This record gives sequence, structure tokens and C-alpha cells, in this order.
Amino acid sequence: MQQFNPEQAMTRGHREFGEHGGVTPSIERSSTFTVLESNTMPAIFNGEKSPENGGCYLYSRHFNPTVDAVARRLAALEDTDYAVCTASGISAIACAISQLCTCGGHVVSSNTVYGGTHALLGDLLPTMGIETTFVDPTDTEAFRAAMREDTRVVYTEVLGNPTLKVADIPAISRIAHEGGAALVVDNTFTPVLLSPARLGADVVVYSLTKFVNGASDIIGGSICGSNEFIGDLMDLHTGRVMLLGPTMDPRVAFDVYQRIPHLPLRMREHGARALAIASRLEELGVDVGYPGLRSHPGHELFSSMLNEGYGYGGMITVDCGSVDRAGKFMDALQNDEDFGYIAVSLGYFDTLLTCSGSSTSSEIAPDEQASMGLSPGLVRMAVGYTGGADERIEQIERAARKVGLAK
Ligand SMILES: *Cc1c(COP(=O)(O)O)cnc(C)c1O
Repeated sequence: MQQFNPEQAMTRGHREFGEHGGVTPSIERSSTFTVLESNTMPAIFNGEKSPENGGCYLYSRHFNPTVDAVARRLAALEDTDYAVCTASGISAIACAISQLCTCGGHVVSSNTVYGGTHALLGDLLPTMGIETTFVDPTDTEAFRAAMREDTRVVYTEVLGNPTLKVADIPAISRIAHEGGAALVVDNTFTPVLLSPARLGADVVVYSLTKFVNGASDIIGGSICGSNEFIGDLMDLHTGRVMLLGPTMDPRVAFDVYQRIPHLPLRMREHGARALAIASRLEELGVDVGYPGLRSHPGHELFSSMLNEGYGYGGMITVDCGSVDRAGKFMDALQNDEDFGYIAVSLGYFDTLLTCSGSSTSSEIAPDEQASMGLSPGLVRMAVGYTGGADERIEQIERAARKVGLAK
């Protein structure tokens, strides 16, 4: 496959001037727009007239120019026709799946998905007649075995959260398509690094709250896909985004828009810092998981799917063996070393630390956690890029020795 350059794709033809020629776009805050001639209203309402052909904008839940500027950037980044932004990552996921599962339907999903997604698929959607079979994302054949006549969606994250298990997107895409289902991929952990739509995904969903925004100050999401699918989501009668209404605020959209240009730079630095830390921890005999390490079981597969030059991402796991030691390790990192913060979420410029089993994945029952390989002492580290690179390694080395993790 030809190499894809997401940085070029994102900027080429995507200049967005502000109202007075500003180098930043303007924020269109209006909820409603003036229709200059009343007799054009019906044609605007039924979509015959748009702002490009004699119509005008109508209402900001339908379409807002500032929010749409973000959507177009993200579509360019993901190499899809189009995108729509939402108020959160989970609403993007819920809308995408429920749009595809009309009249019930079945989902085959990776079992190592984000805790909220696991609850959506395993607990909430069954109350609406949509069933999910969970499978191990590294067992590609398990996806095939779980396919049913009524399977509409195959769902996975590229890197399982928090286990960092790697899913074979091209192979899973073939299985989905053979069974007449759409492949939906959550690319929240790996923006820019990897382009799921180019590897066979039909729909790419995001929590923009994490790396894409990068400042831990907004909640947002997006769905990237074909013009037809985005049109379905925005349909006046049956569109899930249109009628369930998780609309992104234009002021939030502006903030996200201003941070997308340096997303590739940030991803490179997250990756460089994470690789250096993971390599050192491995040398020290710590039980560390990072897809950039040759020792990671998914290293080859992950490498084969990456866009060149952006590294392996910012997520590391450290298995501390017990919840108690995980707590001591995180306390030492935060309170003795100033290495990072004990906080959920990821993609911030500072490092964030969580013990996933008892926090972000606590929606998943303990026996299920065990079967998906999530050990109770697993610390998830979303590596930031602040502080001196060498200083950070010294800090984590001291903390690892203090709690007896390092040799
Ligand atoms: C955080 C997260 C979500 C949910 O996104 P919100 O913006 O919090 O709604 C979904 N998927 C992954 C992988 C996440 O990390």
C-alpha cells in the first residue's frame, strides 16, 4: 500500500480564514441563521439548497460552520469522505453503533475496549435489542467464529484499553465484510500514527478529549466515514446524531481546531518519550508493556499498520503485581518525584497514571478482567512530554526501585 502522509493530507486544501481575513477561523456562535428570502425556506429545509448553492445555514444542531471545519480536518486526517463532531467520544460510539444496528442486530466486539464502551455494548444496548459477543482482539479467527446472520457491526480499538493488545485491522475488516457487517474502529489511542480507514475500517470513531485535543480541558468526539454514512447520522428523521442530539459547541470546536495542527508533533514526542521510558524499564527488569518494544507480542503487527515517522504512541502499562504495589508506585511517582498525576484519561502534556482495573475499566467484572488479561496491579501510563527527558527516566527509575519493581 502507498504510504499515507496524514500531515500533508490534513493541511492541503484545508485553509480556513477568519471572517476578517484572520489566520484563525472565526467562531460562529449563532444557534440559528437568517433566511433572507422566505420562499427559499422549504428548499433549505429539505436539503435542496445549501450555503453553497443559494441557500444558507439553518440551525446549529444540523450544521455549524465552526464545528464543520473540525469535521473536515478530521476527515482529511483519517482519509474518509467526511466526518461529524459530537459532544463526547462515548456519544460518537453510541450513535455510530446504533445507526448501523437498525431493528436490533448483533455486534462482535473486542473484549478489551474502553470501560464505557464495554458497558454500552454489554449492558445498555441489550436493553434495546442489540446484542454483543465479546472476543479477544488478538484472536482474529474468534471474530469470524462469532459472526452471525444478523451481525451488523464489528467493533475494535487498535490498541486495547488498557491491555495494549493489538488488533489486526486488515484481517478483521475482511471478516466483517465477508459477513456483510461494517467495521467500526476506535482510534483514540493512535491518531496520526495509524489510519484505520486505509486499513479497511468503514467508520472511525474518536474521543477528541484525549490526544487530539491534548490539553485535558474539553470533552468531544467524532465519527469519520463515507458521505452516505455521515448523511444517515444527520438525517432529519432517523439520524442518531441529529435526533439524539450530542451536538458539539462551536467554542469547543474552535479550541480543538487550534490544536489539530500540532497533533503530529505531539504524537511524535509522546512516542519518543514513551519508548525511552519503556526501554529503560525493560532493562531494569520491570514488567512493562509497550507496542514499540520488540518484546511486545503485537510489535510486528502494530509496526506493519503504522504510518511512517510517528513512533508507537504514548501508552505504557506496568504490571505491579498487586493493587497495593500499584498504589505505592503511583504515589511515589506523583508525590515524591513529580513525574505525573494520578488521574484518569490520557493524551495530556503531563503524564497521567491510573490503576485501570479499579478505575477506568471498573465497569468490567473482575472475572472478565482476568480473562481479558487485565491484572489488578496494572498501571496505565499516558506518557506526557513535559520536563527533561533524562530527568523523567531518573524519576521513574527511583520510584520503581523504591517499591521493589526494578532489579
Ligand atoms: C475516553 C475514551 C472514550 C470515551 O470518550 P469520552 O470523550 O470520555 O466520551 C472512548 N474510547 C476510548 C479509547 C477512550 O479512551
